Amino acid sequence: MASYTPMIQQYLKVKAEYQDAFLFFRLGDFYEMFFEDALNASQELEITLTSREGGGEDKIPMCGVPYHSAAGYIDILIEKGYKVAICEQTEDPKQAKGVVRREVVQLITPGTKMDGKGLVEKENNFIASITDFADGTFGLAYNDLSTGENKVTILEGGFDDMYNELSILGAKEVVIGNDFPSEWQKKMKEREVAALSFEDSAEESMEFVSLLTFLQERKQRAAVSRLLHYLFRTQKRSLDHLQPVLPYETNSFMKIDFFSKRNLELTETIRSKGKKGSLLWLLDETKTAMGGRLLKQWIERPLIDRKQIETRQALVEILKTHYFERQDLREHLKEVYDLERLAGRVAFGNVNARDLLQLKRSLRQIPVIREIVTSMDSERIGVLAEKLDPCEEVTDLLETSLNENPPLSVKEGNIIRDGFNEELDTYRDASRNGKTWIAQLERAERDRTGIKSLKIGYNRVFGYYIEVTRANLHLLEEERYERKQTLTNAERFITPDLKEKEALILQAEEKSIGLEYDLFLEIREQVKAHIPSLQALARAISELDVLQCFATISEERHYVKPVFSNERKVILKDGRHPVVEKVLQSQEYVPNDCYMDSEREMLLITGPNMSGKSTYMRQVALTAILAQIGCFVSAGEAVLPIFDKIFTRIGAADDLISGQSTFMVEMLEAKNAIVHATENSLILFDEIGRGTSTYDGMALAQAIIEHIHEKIGAKTLFSTHYHELTALSDTLACLKNIHVSAVEQNGNVVFLHKIKEGSADKSYGIHVAQLAELPKSLINRANEILTELEKGSRSDRPGQLNETDQKKERTLYNEPNASSRETKAAAAESEAQLSFFEEAAIPDKK
Ligand code: ADP
Repeated sequence: MASYTPMIQQYLKVKAEYQDAFLFFRLGDFYEMFFEDALNASQELEITLTSREGGGEDKIPMCGVPYHSAAGYIDILIEKGYKVAICEQTEDPKQAKGVVRREVVQLITPGTKMDGKGLVEKENNFIASITDFADGTFGLAYNDLSTGENKVTILEGGFDDMYNELSILGAKEVVIGNDFPSEWQKKMKEREVAALSFEDSAEESMEFVSLLTFLQERKQRAAVSRLLHYLFRTQKRSLDHLQPVLPYETNSFMKIDFFSKRNLELTETIRSKGKKGSLLWLLDETKTAMGGRLLKQWIERPLIDRKQIETRQALVEILKTHYFERQDLREHLKEVYDLERLAGRVAFGNVNARDLLQLKRSLRQIPVIREIVTSMDSERIGVLAEKLDPCEEVTDLLETSLNENPPLSVKEGNIIRDGFNEELDTYRDASRNGKTWIAQLERAERDRTGIKSLKIGYNRVFGYYIEVTRANLHLLEEERYERKQTLTNAERFITPDLKEKEALILQAEEKSIGLEYDLFLEIREQVKAHIPSLQALARAISELDVLQCFATISEERHYVKPVFSNERKVILKDGRHPVVEKVLQSQEYVPNDCYMDSEREMLLITGPNMSGKSTYMRQVALTAILAQIGCFVSAGEAVLPIFDKIFTRIGAADDLISGQSTFMVEMLEAKNAIVHATENSLILFDEIGRGTSTYDGMALAQAIIEHIHEKIGAKTLFSTHYHELTALSDTLACLKNIHVSAVEQNGNVVFLHKIKEGSADKSYGIHVAQLAELPKSLINRANEILTELEKGSRSDRPGQLNETDQKKERTLYNEPNASSRETKAAAAESEAQLSFFEEAAIPDKK
């Protein structure tokens, strides 16, 4: 190292402390990278790799990005999961003896982004920290640096429970201690949860102790302290916008494990990993970025407290009935800027005058919004209106201080209004007077010389000058002027008077720009004092926004307000899968009923592929989630229990990445449900057992059904290919068969997507083969084999579709357009069925 130049030595010293980050080393107008960093960055950023002498034997690899366009490059690296340490010159080069002092002023990481591309408007950017308490419990703390939100929870279900919660959160970066058990570190790296970072300090510190006021438990405080240490250490600046840490318990919300959340496509679809096609996509009628983020949080954490749910429902109902007010409200919400992130940037010190103007305009909307809300004239919504504090002091300050069209930069002046500061006005007067004097001089000189084209101009090099075209030079008494510059067609002159005025003007301008910057910083400080009110306002606005969003969707899509049943009943009349219904648009979505009670705890669903089994099952789960987030639901009438947990085992398309066999994952998910489900849970099992040999699979499926039936009693929807299982309804009192049928029309198979009682026609597969015009002889042979198999299997396995089951085949409701004789007969039979809906008297609507 000794042979390197002092600057390279300095570089290496800093780099040693930031080994896991790209070190952006400031040299003049560039951030330079050297050695490994240069090799890697030149690839990742697709920039030219060069090299320079550094005192060593070989040249040092080097690449760099211009200071003014660094933000874009940083975004790219962060997006790829890297960290970037910004190393600035921290002394004036003119004063420096030897190498200019340089220090890292900020470590930018995937979890600590404050602005730029990496931040999606309607998404949080979480950083989490995990603390292992070595007694089976884990602390999980998380923060969104851009909004200042801080939460903490203690998880008692071991690594998997913690890991599940962490996955649901979708944090971009996870901070752990170096003593975090290495086997778990390995697991987390394997599953590529997010960027891993280390922080060993978990002590409370004066720096942030005020944020811990709401935390009573030692573990909570320790868990969150680690995270806060990391934030202060990497950001190296005031984080005044951080909000007091709120403790939460995962038990206060409906539990949906990570896989189920993904299977149900709550916030993104399985295939594209994008929002489009998810429940979030369907619901998102929010008008503000804050509302968008809250909506996502609500969807991820449905409530289980009936009172809380009904409070939301009541507000949605009020907003739903006040159509015109709601439209008006939406128009005004649209004008409200991201107050939460803005407050963060005020504290962080990276807002400009345009941001503050946005803030002013947003705040101006608040009194109007408040009035609209109050005009709905309901006590309940009045409570919400009261929380809408328009922060008038801030509005007034910004109104009197800021110009309407400030530049992007805060160092060029033109930010502050005339009349806001006397000193500034004096400078501005001086500069304006000087300019008037110059304009007058131009006129006077023209008159005196008779040169109409004479003009006074300004450039950065020569300052003010008098310009006369070559053709007119003879009219000038040249001795009065000092020649300054010769152009092809003109000469430029100056005079002592002109220079004197110029000095005054420039001085005044320089002073006023400096003063404007200082004033701007003062204003920013004053706004900073209002951060807590702005954050409270942001919360109220986001809540109002999500509620109006629910109201809007509920109205547009003809949703109904669900009623909650204490008897664990599910009654969905004309239920629809909310997303599939929207996607199908013009095509008819076939609504289906679902009825479950203490005698119908489990529904075994049979039917051909593509008939709609999976859609039906998901529909029930999504309806429950819609209900428990406080939204209305996609049905004609709905009674639901409050589910404590939802488990799913659906599809297996992309489990390959986890390195486990599909069947193993299937079993693990089944286990998860079997271990954790209660009688208040909802379980969806789609084709469990399909991943192994027929007998194996069927045996497992039956055992699982029996177990849930006997030991858990959770509401369960179980679709299966094993028709043999339908016989279980004879022995399991609370299991009922339902099926989705299909019909043949003009030689084509048509799926009716209609759920009916009883089990499906077993020979359907051969029927389809027939429709596909396989050779007749082959079809006959298949039928023969089937009969053989059926005979053979009857003795040692659950029976075939029996007569009682076939008789049970009937629709839950009359089908108005049923045309075939068979369906008519079924419809007639369903009369009897109808009565159980009448019995299950739907509680009075309020
Ligand atoms: P299965 O699970 O029986 O294989 P799916 O539930 O995947 O079938 O449904 C297959 C397709 O049928 C879906 O993609 C959807 O487009 C359509 N579908 C399902 N249910 C309905 C319905 N109730 N109304 C209209 N189309 C439906």
